[in-house]
Formats: sequence, C-alpha cells, structure tokens
Amino acid sequence: MPLAIDLPSITTFRARLQQLLADSADTGDRRHVLVLAIDGIPLSLAEEFWPESRIDGLRSVFPTTSSTAWLSSLTGQQPEQHGIPGVVFRDDSGHLVNVFEYRGAFCGSDAGNIFSDAAALEYWPVAILGDWEPYECTWRTMLLKGAHLVEGHRFYTAAPANPGAMRDRVHGAIQSALERLPPGQPSLLWCFIDADRHVHRRGYDSDLVHWLSAIDDLAADFASRGFIVVAHSDHGLVRTVHDPEIVSLLAGIEADFGCEIGGAGRTRWIYAGQSDMDRVVSALERSLPSTVRLFPADLFFRPGSLARARSGDLMLVAQGDEFMTFSGHIFDHGSLTETELRVPFAVWSANSANGSQLR
Ligand SMILES: [Zn+2]
Repeated sequence: MPLAIDLPSITTFRARLQQLLADSADTGDRRHVLVLAIDGIPLSLAEEFWPESRIDGLRSVFPTTSSTAWLSSLTGQQPEQHGIPGVVFRDDSGHLVNVFEYRGAFCGSDAGNIFSDAAALEYWPVAILGDWEPYECTWRTMLLKGAHLVEGHRFYTAAPANPGAMRDRVHGAIQSALERLPPGQPSLLWCFIDADRHVHRRGYDSDLVHWLSAIDDLAADFASRGFIVVAHSDHGLVRTVHDPEIVSLLAGIEADFGCEIGGAGRTRWIYAGQSDMDRVVSALERSLPSTVRLFPADLFFRPGSLARARSGDLMLVAQGDEFMTFSGHIFDHGSLTETELRVPFAVWSANSANGSQLR
C-alpha cells in the first residue's frame, strides 16, 4: 500500500550512509563516522531540537515497528524483502513467535548491511549494542551482522537518569568504543539508544527534549573534533489510549474462530484462514470503532513475499487515539500517522553549520 507521505523511504538510509563513508574515503582524509540510532524520534522534534545539524526527512515503513524499520534502514530492504513484518508473527514453521525473544532460524537472503558496506570501504564496523543488550535473539544477530559488538553500555534500559546524566552515558559509550579501535583505524560506530522506552510512558516530555538538545551539543562537539555524526530514527510515537472493548472484541474472535493474533502496538493482525474469513470480517465490522480500520494484508505486503507469509490475513490499524496498548503506556506506534511515519536523517559535520557540503 502506498504511504501518503512524499519523502524518500528509510530504505535509502543504507545508501546515504555508504555515500558519506565513500566521500570521506575519497578525500584521503578518512574520518570516524558516528551514527546515533535513536528509537522513537519524529522528524518534527529533530527539526526543533537539533539546530546544529542538516536534516533530511525520511519515511518509515509499514508497520512503523522497531524490528521492521531498523532492519529496513540498515539493510536497505523493504519489509517484503527482509521478511520481518513486526514483533509477533509466524515463523517459517507456522508457530507464533516474538521476534525479540526468538532464537531459531529465519529463512531469507543476506543482502549485506551498513556494516558490510563499511568493511568494504575499509572502515572498522562497530555496533554499540546499547539498549539492544537485553534482547539476545536471531533478529538482533541479523541486524548487526558484520559489526564488532561493544557491550556494557545501556541507556534507557538502565536505571532512569536526568537528561545530563543520560547524555553522559552516551558520551561514555562512544569514548569506550573509540578506545577499543585498532590504532589509526577509521571506524563506522553505530550506537543504539532506545528513547522509545521513555516516550511510551511519558510522551515527549521536558526530560526527553532536554536530552535531545544535549545530543545536539554532543554531536556538534564530535563534529568539531573531525567526526562525521549522523542520527536516524525508526518511527515517531503518538498518544494512544487503551480501549478494553477492542481487547475483548479480539479475545472473542480468538475464542469463536480459533484465530491467532499478531502484530504490535497500533497495528495488529489476525490469522483468519480462508474458511472463516468472511465471518471474521463481519464480526469485526459490526463491532470495531470507526477509528480502527480493517485492511486485507495483501494491501501492505505483496502476496508470496516473506513478510506476507509470516503476517496475518487481516490488518487492524489504529487511526485515532483509542486502541490497545500496554499498561502504563500513553504513547505507542505501529500505524500510519504522519508523526509515526516521518523520521529524521540528521548530519553534523565540521562544515554543516555554514551549510556547505561534506567533503
Ligand atoms: Zn522503535
């Protein structure tokens, strides 16, 4: 399904980064390229709080789910190609899995990623696991394939901290990764920061935006030391209110038709099967609020693609505030609002303040 936002896709991230690496290599003056991968930051907020950077807007993929979107950014592949349609979906033997826990195999092709690109250009590819550290799973192995991993630095998955202390954690992680590089070796340093975890519970509050400002300072500081600094995100989040009636409607569908339910956040899907499809659709159409739209999955994922084979047959997509979310969550993502879809590609370099191009 075409997404109604006229921006380049986040699948262009890989090629954009490869261009930055190649341009720097061409000058004969290779710089370290530091990439801050910040989960849950919409374009509008980046434009407001990162004045020291040059920002392009990118459009996330459907669903606007972290596992799907980060893999699309780092591999340059659409979800149909990399085959990870969300968080809860059927594996290749038909069992429902949670992608952040699943350690079995996924079939699919290896088309390389930002780390193999960096290695090919003779940069040392490094991933600071950061807030992915608690999630040992096959998906994380796919995402970070080819990177030298740096562990021991958690940010939003560690104890809560004020914005200044949170900035210091990021700074400390980067310094520690730099100290472990082979001497004289330019690197691609990708660092995962799960701000999404904060936003789910507190929204884009003053702590979050103060931290974003501190990240602008940190990035500008590294740029002034000769680094190229990039920040990107996977999706924004929007206010979401838990509606118990939608939960009981889906529980009824599960019980009455024996359907399994997958997806995550503001997009869920139902494995209806052809024989029950019409009756399931009727039951949903009778009871769903007008702010939740029902779509056939074929509209989003090409039939026969890996993502389609693993996703359910019917998609429930939140369009308003009311849907299903975890206890204590006030913001969520996964659907198709502008805030969820529009994300930043920001670059800080020694030349960016005066608007000139990177050399
Ligand atoms: Zn995310």
